[in-house]
Amino acid sequence: MNLRTTCGIVLRIVGHGESDKLVTFYSPDLGRVTGIAKGARKSKRRFVNKLEEFTLLQLDYRLPRRQTGLLLISEAEVLTAHLILRTDFRRYAAAMYICELLIRFTRDNDPDLKLFALLRWALASLHRAKNPLKIVLLAHLHLLEVAGYRPDLHRCASCRQAVGPGRNYQLQPVAGGLLCDLCTAGHGTHLPRMSIQTVSLLAGAQTLTLDRLDRLQFPRQVLVGAATALYHFSIHLLQQDLHAWTVLRALTTEGQTYPAAGRNGIGPPG
Ligand SMILES: [Zn+2]
Repeated sequence: MNLRTTCGIVLRIVGHGESDKLVTFYSPDLGRVTGIAKGARKSKRRFVNKLEEFTLLQLDYRLPRRQTGLLLISEAEVLTAHLILRTDFRRYAAAMYICELLIRFTRDNDPDLKLFALLRWALASLHRAKNPLKIVLLAHLHLLEVAGYRPDLHRCASCRQAVGPGRNYQLQPVAGGLLCDLCTAGHGTHLPRMSIQTVSLLAGAQTLTLDRLDRLQFPRQVLVGAATALYHFSIHLLQQDLHAWTVLRALTTEGQTYPAAGRNGIGPPG
């Protein structure tokens, strides 16, 4: 088996047996793949401080013997560590959520350069960011687009009226887009209502390229409401929960009265 080289961003690490680690990463040429690093739990020198979440690595690997097997990772070199994402708990929770989104919205061995670019942008932006929830919101919005689930933020999916003043909107998963408050009467009361300001900011963010997203500013309440709306939209699409959201929401909505939701016993560190 020939030795091959790729680069990839680590999405998830789990222990495997007594001495190995399973490393799920997203690579521009392989897509989402999982490899096994033999001996990595026994602090073998070649893997020390390298196999960490959110790190951009150069990886030497061999193909699995079977089609469905794991890549055999033989060496790893750190290209970008993104260390602060593992030491600052808010940014850690944000990065975990983005990685969970990427894992859930992708399949194995289905590379997409746009997704790799989006992930790279998101982690680099979190590294610089003072407001992790803003990066989460923008990454989530663009991930939906790349994954083929771009919500229409310009008109109500039911009455088809263009978004306009005097109404509030919900991002309704069942409708696949916005519903105005005339069309949601009595439905979806657990979903956050978004003002026209929020909807317009999101619609604008959809059209911007990654290099221009950092400049956008969102009022805090807009961020929380919009990020919550995208969470509900995605768990409906995925038909499963996104576990990192609970921690992220608790950390990013401290002191907020909106959305009024329990913390499920999870609070900020220390
Ligand atoms: Zn309507």
